[in-house]
Amino acid sequence: MGEESTVARILGFRLADYNPQCAGMTEFVSPLWLQWPDTTEVCVLDTKVHGYHGEMRASAKLRGKGQKKVFICDQCAADEFVIKAQFDYHDACDDLLEDEPDIDIVDYFTGIIIIGTCAGCSAINEVLQMDL
Ligand SMILES: [Zn+2]
Repeated sequence: MGEESTVARILGFRLADYNPQCAGMTEFVSPLWLQWPDTTEVCVLDTKVHGYHGEMRASAKLRGKGQKKVFICDQCAADEFVIKAQFDYHDACDDLLEDEPDIDIVDYFTGIIIIGTCAGCSAINEVLQMDL
């Protein structure tokens, strides 16, 4: 991926609303959408269907429901970010690839980290981090 600097708003669900132990944390859980400046939205992550356990129809991860929230910078409360995502794969993916060479292994990530760099103050916000 190149140095794409388009900003987007991040829509999803607050982890703290689903896990009281995470009160005060700004992190989100899926489903997660990006909303572009022209207001079109694209779902970028839904742990029910994406990732290793989602693909196996065995996801047990917290998942938001209802009204989407807007992710806000924890430094300046701006809501536009430059987004970066990192996908991780572990050994189970190698086994799977050996056993079932026809599947699309990129969909079977076992971890994801989404980082938003605030368009307002340049603070780096961790939007979502999950093992899947
Ligand atoms: Zn900010």
